[in-house]
Amino acid sequence: MTAGLHPWNEDRALRLARERARLPHALLLAGPKGLGKTDLAAWLAQLLLCAQPSAAHQPCGRCQGCTLYAAGSHPDLHVVQPEAVYKSSAGLLAQYALRYPPADKGKDSKDSTVIRIDQIRALIEASQTRPQIAARKVLILSPADSLNVNAANSLLKLLEEPPPDSTLLLVADRPTRLPATIRSRCVNVPVRAPERGAALAWLAAQGQAPAQAELLLELAAGAPLAALALADGDFIGCRTRWMDDIEGLLGKGADPVGCAARWKSAGAERGLSWLQGCVGDLIKLGFDPGAPGLFNPDARARLQALQNRLHLNRLFGFLELVATSRNALGGPLDEQLLLEDVLIQWSRLPRT
Ligand SMILES: [Zn+2]
Repeated sequence: MTAGLHPWNEDRALRLARERARLPHALLLAGPKGLGKTDLAAWLAQLLLCAQPSAAHQPCGRCQGCTLYAAGSHPDLHVVQPEAVYKSSAGLLAQYALRYPPADKGKDSKDSTVIRIDQIRALIEASQTRPQIAARKVLILSPADSLNVNAANSLLKLLEEPPPDSTLLLVADRPTRLPATIRSRCVNVPVRAPERGAALAWLAAQGQAPAQAELLLELAAGAPLAALALADGDFIGCRTRWMDDIEGLLGKGADPVGCAARWKSAGAERGLSWLQGCVGDLIKLGFDPGAPGLFNPDARARLQALQNRLHLNRLFGFLELVATSRNALGGPLDEQLLLEDVLIQWSRLPRT
């Protein structure tokens, strides 16, 4: 058992730990959301900052480095996250990320969901100094796929001329969103979902009943932490209401404005993200009623009934609208109006 690590990441962590003296200057921890990649990066950071790791390649937990790390004040650990991520996280890394806030948020009064160039510039400046306590500095970017274009270009300079005595850990749910120039300068460390049995055992240990755990894991595409997050937010209950709403809007005379208000109170991002997956399912079913890998695998019959009433070619345009609206969340447009627009367009899709 390794403190701070999820059991399915222990083997990966141990392999990195054994190689720690020869680690490349930049690693890209990549894999689907909900696998604990950021916790893996944090654990590796502590190990790299520890003065006396154990023979089993674990941080000692007692040295000055480990003590400062746990207090959120190690001077050689530098963490950059989007403002919205560190402000909403209770994790230890969020404390470190407070040291690299976006200096210029522009006209936007909301917390930024991207990593901005001034944050990367500050990180580069810090990377040029010598480590203060540890043998090296550890730089973490999480999630690195939230770098905006300017920030990514700036980071590229850091990767092209890596600072001495530094290890850079990039964490990404969607690594293909990173420019190829960045990916090619990092060593890829794939983080994979555990086997189904192990994931279900872990969910049971978190207090999830077996039937619920199976459904959550399926909905989370096998990622245990994502499954647990769905349970915490009553995703199953919300999904039932969203499903009822889109059926109701498609012929039963439901009111899109009232639906939008409900979706907003349940979280506009969650609702739109579900709708995006749901429309993806409808498109898949339009091509192949037996399509595998549905986002809502347990709702196949209901989705097929919806699909039968809609024109497949119109669903592509609607899917794009959902994606665009989702991207617009957090911007200046009102959430209620965005949701109303999407749901009104849905209710107006031509029927067969
Ligand atoms: Zn230590």
